[in-house]
Amino acid sequence: MTFDLILRNAAIVDRDGRADIGIANGRFTAIEASLPKGAPEQDLGGRLVVPGFVETHIHLDKSCLLGRCNCEKGTLEEAIGEVAKAKRGFTEEDVYARAASTLEKAIKHGTNRMRTHVEVDPRVGLTSFRALKKLKADYAWAIDLQLCVFPQEGLLDDPGCDDIMLQAMREGADVVGGAPYMDKDSHGQIARIFELAKQFGTDIDFHLDFGLEPAHLDLDEVCRMAEQTGWGGRVAIGHVTKLSAMPTADFEAAAKRLASAGVAVTVLPATDLFLTGRDSEYNVPRGVTAGHKLRALGVNSNVSTNNVLNPFTPFGDVSLIRMINLYANVLQVGAMTDLAACLDMVTSASAKLLNSADYGIKVGNPADLVVLDCGTKAEAVCEVAQPLFGLKRGVRTFERPAASLHRPH
Ligand SMILES: [Zn+2]
Repeated sequence: MTFDLILRNAAIVDRDGRADIGIANGRFTAIEASLPKGAPEQDLGGRLVVPGFVETHIHLDKSCLLGRCNCEKGTLEEAIGEVAKAKRGFTEEDVYARAASTLEKAIKHGTNRMRTHVEVDPRVGLTSFRALKKLKADYAWAIDLQLCVFPQEGLLDDPGCDDIMLQAMREGADVVGGAPYMDKDSHGQIARIFELAKQFGTDIDFHLDFGLEPAHLDLDEVCRMAEQTGWGGRVAIGHVTKLSAMPTADFEAAAKRLASAGVAVTVLPATDLFLTGRDSEYNVPRGVTAGHKLRALGVNSNVSTNNVLNPFTPFGDVSLIRMINLYANVLQVGAMTDLAACLDMVTSASAKLLNSADYGIKVGNPADLVVLDCGTKAEAVCEVAQPLFGLKRGVRTFERPAASLHRPH
């Protein structure tokens, strides 16, 4: 057997012991305790190797807007209003430049698969969508990018928006998304998004059940529609902060519902921490849903970045290892097995949400991997272990050398 590259002494995620990884023609071709010599090789010294971080929910088109928007109240309403104003000045070049800067940070932090939401409406038209389509093609060497178009300012209550959504789907949007809370008839929007998904054969990704008032949940309707249409396994809902404000029995009932309908949940800690509970002066609620508890109850749940450097979230380095550390810290995760399982929420669980069938370090799959500066999954989460380098289809896409001390001699 001949290889283009052998990575030796790897602690491959979810595999006992250390192994050598053989790569040829962009694929994993052998994973064994010891591979023979005869190819360029690198010793990983027992470092943890993951197939790459997977971002399921980010807004590249409205990233990096801090200089153009007010962010004084820190509320959802302010954020939507400020970005709506800024959006009127978007050009394809401007969206591309900001999105590329954010995407490059993600790649350098070890993310090699991503779903980005893209706003389309009668004001911005397809400007952002077309910019991100070009971005997707230009960066395909480093990252698989899915474009999920959605009406951030409402669909049914925004005349003309449906036509623009349709046009985006015709022009190749990968996923259809919604924000039902923006329309008076939230169930009407949910129904229309399911129609579009069926028409174009795409997965669905909603922004859903934002807020802390759990009396009314749109997730019940999304689960009902997923079952009715047979779309289980192809539907995700993001934020779902209402689940953080529920007594345990209600939370468990909602989890059961989501699991049986095949609806996945994306937790977005940075935005939810920033926007939630703005009417509290003290004892501010956290508003971060316990995705790891949903997972224990059978729901596919993951953690993602959402917004970066804009009024929805004025923070962000697009590092998913930092995001899962933030999540684990806020959700008070302490047991080693639970901390280890948190790493799945930015890797394998996220890949499952994207229905990425060829994700994972196994023979035959594309040789996508990221080497982390740690030895175990729990260490990765606890220590915000930095990615040292990554491969996409066998080709090195980034390097982040570990920091080193310059000791006095
Ligand atoms: Zn979002």
